[in-house]
This record gives sequence, C-alpha cells and structure tokens, in this order.
Amino acid sequence: MAYDVIVVGIGGMGSAAAWQLARRGHRVLGLERFDIPHAMGSSHGVTRIIRLPYYEDPAYVPLLQRAYALWRDLEAATGEHVLITHGSLDGGIEDGEVFNGALASARLHGLPHEVLTGAAVNARHPGYNLAPQARAVFQPQGGYVMSERAIVAHVRAAQAAGAEIHAREQVLGWDARPGGEGVVVTTDRGRYEAARLVLTAGAWMADLAPLLQGVAVPERQVLAWLQPQDPALFTPERFPVFNLEVPEGRYYGFPVVEVPGFKFGRYHHRSESMPADRMRREVDAEDEGLLRAFAGQYFPQGTGPTMALRACMFTNTPDEHFILDHHPEHRQVVLASPCSGHGYKFCSVIGGILADLASGDGTTGHAIEFLRLGRLRRAA
Ligand SMILES: Cc1cc2nc3c(=O)[nH]c(=O)nc-3n(C[C@H](O)[C@H](O)[C@H](O)COP(=O)(O)OP(=O)(O)OC[C@H]3O[C@@H](n4cnc5c(N)ncnc54)[C@H](O)[C@@H]3O)c2cc1C
Repeated sequence: MAYDVIVVGIGGMGSAAAWQLARRGHRVLGLERFDIPHAMGSSHGVTRIIRLPYYEDPAYVPLLQRAYALWRDLEAATGEHVLITHGSLDGGIEDGEVFNGALASARLHGLPHEVLTGAAVNARHPGYNLAPQARAVFQPQGGYVMSERAIVAHVRAAQAAGAEIHAREQVLGWDARPGGEGVVVTTDRGRYEAARLVLTAGAWMADLAPLLQGVAVPERQVLAWLQPQDPALFTPERFPVFNLEVPEGRYYGFPVVEVPGFKFGRYHHRSESMPADRMRREVDAEDEGLLRAFAGQYFPQGTGPTMALRACMFTNTPDEHFILDHHPEHRQVVLASPCSGHGYKFCSVIGGILADLASGDGTTGHAIEFLRLGRLRRAA
C-alpha cells in the first residue's frame, strides 16, 4: 500500500492530524477539496479563542493543557507565531452557567485566575461595558490562535515530515476492506489505498460518514469586525478575549488582530441549520443589526464603521461535545467532528489523538471517553 493513512479534509483538525502522523514516521496522504487555507468551512476569519477554565466541562482542561504544549511545538517546528496569550474573561450573568462553570473548572484544575465583578472588568479594560454586578473569571493564559496561519503551519510541518498533501481534490467516497485494515478512497482525480483513514471533513462529515446524519449538523454563523472609536482600548494588551453570557445570549470576541476591527460573534447566531453546501454565505442587514445591538450595549467604544462581515459554519452534536472515535463498523476509520463551535483551540491535541487512534493498536492515552460516539448512541 502506498500510504499508511489518508486524511480527508485539511482544515483545522486534518492539518494537525497530518503533521502528527507524518512526524511519527507514517506515510500520509492529505486530501482537501478547496484551497489551503480557504474560507468555505469552519476555520477562517483570522483568529479563534483559546481559554483554559472550560465552562463546558472540566474534563476538557487536560486536553487543553496538552493543546497549549502542541501549539508551542508547532511554533518551534515552523517558526510561525500562532498562539497569543494575553488573558480571557468567561462570565457575564452572575451565577450564570458560564461564570459558574468556568470558576469550577479553574478551581478543580488549580488554574491561576481572578474573579472580577463587571465594574472591575470595565475599570481594568475600558473597552468593556458590563453590568456592574456581572461576574467573570479572568485567566491569564487565555488568548487566541491564528487559525488560518496555523493550518498553513501544520501543512508545512507535515510536508517537511514527508506527508503528501493535495488541495483542490474532493473525496467522493471510501470503502473499507473487511477485517479492520485497509481502505480505498475515491476522489475526483484518482483512487488511493491506505491502511487507515482519518475523516476530518468539518461541516461535510455527515456526507462522508452517513452515521453522523442528524448527529453532526452544520449551522450558519456570522462574524463581525467593527472599527473601534478608540482603537487603543481594543489592543491585545488591553482587551482580553471574552466568552460572555448576557440576557441576549452567549457571545465571544477578540481584540483587533490583522483586520482593523473589533471582532465578535453570537453563539448559534440566528439558529440556521442546513447542509454545508446549502449554507447562505452572504451576510445581510439582519445579521449585522443583531451583532451591532450587542456591541452597542456591551462594547460601545467598538461600534464604528463595519470593517468586515463573514459567514462561517459550526457543526453541532446534540450535546455540543466533540466526537473523536473509531467508526463503529470499521476500526481502520477514525472520525473527528468539527466540534460544535468550540473546537479550534483543540486542533493541535486532536491531531495527536487522531494519530493515536489511526496507528498501532488504535488506543490513546488521552482521556476521551466522554467524547466517544457511544455516549450519543446511549442517549438516543
Ligand atoms: C464563526 C466561528 C467562530 C468560532 N470560534 C471559535 C473559537 O473562538 N474558538 C474555538 O476553539 N473554536 C471556534 N470555532 C469552532 C472551530 O473553528 C471549529 O471547531 C474548527 O474550525 C473545526 O475544524 P475542522 O477541521 O473540523 O473544520 P474545517 O477547518 O472546516 O476543515 C474541514 C475540511 O474538510 C474539507 N472537506 C470537506 N469535505 C471534503 C471532501 N469530500 N474531500 C476533501 N476535503 C473535504 C473542507 O474543505 C475543510 O477544509 C468557531 C467556528 C466558527 C464557524
């Protein structure tokens, strides 16, 4: 067989998996239907937040700690600066799910943190205008990953370690040989064989793994970049990234990086689910109005002229946790979901986990039981 492992989808997760496999000496073929990088999937828009006191479930924290180390490894291997840490704020409504969950995670894992009132946040970071009684966990290791740059860095590192990567080549289907070893992958340009297959097709996962129909569901999101009235308040040094629960919903945001605007978005923007190829990519006045209303209330110094608006895709599981597992019928096939709108920060460690699952006896030392498919099947 020409390849040990074929990786389908060279976005955030797939580029990391290709590097981790190649650096362990496996013969890797990576197949990507668009360009490297591109703006059709889930990883574009310059940056993604990384935050440690994980309100979603403290079980993610050990994975995050490894993710940090592997982002630094990637930087050392490529000379590219992809992880910027300057602090994060998780909170909003006092006694809300985000504040309480983040605090519990920080305490359980002994993470350095401070608990701040909204008034204290506003005084320290004057770009913010939280309700005075709001509460937030400040965590100094929070920040952002340069998401598109990191995909390119992972691809460069994978190539340097011997991986073969093809962009503009769409996978049309795959067949698994009986007995748990061997796959044949068919694309619009050719046919390839390998011992194992990693599917990291993002919002298109259910097209390539029909068992994920209804389990990994794409959802349209919109990101806004607005020019701050006072840009000095929105620099990384003065403006921590945020994950904010307010009466209007849950929102996230960044300092000004590359695009000259304060970047933010609303989780589950307008609750628009659809197959990935039918996503509406244009952004309309209603999208912008919804986001501007939030900024006007909570970041009034960040509501100048629009600099950019972009649509992007979440892909949600029913419980919003990730799926990292072998295909239940074909152990040589490994599945990684695009991670319900919070996965990018984990790409570096997920690349390592996928490499574990797709090589040797397919076991991993990472605690991922809570991310395996079985829990969704049991819940169903
Ligand atoms: C607006 C927005 C904001 C977000 N904010 C954050 C954040 O702040 N922090 C965070 O941690 N996460 C965040 N996320 C989530 C995070 O970006 C995703 O979890 C992550 O990008 C998913 O990576 P992926 O590799 O699964 O998908 P992608 O990067 O989209 O990669 C999938 C790849 O598969 C390719 N592909 C699909 N089908 C085929 C095929 N048949 N043949 C070949 N190639 C194929 C696609 O072209 C694509 O390149 C956000 C997501 C969005 C949309």
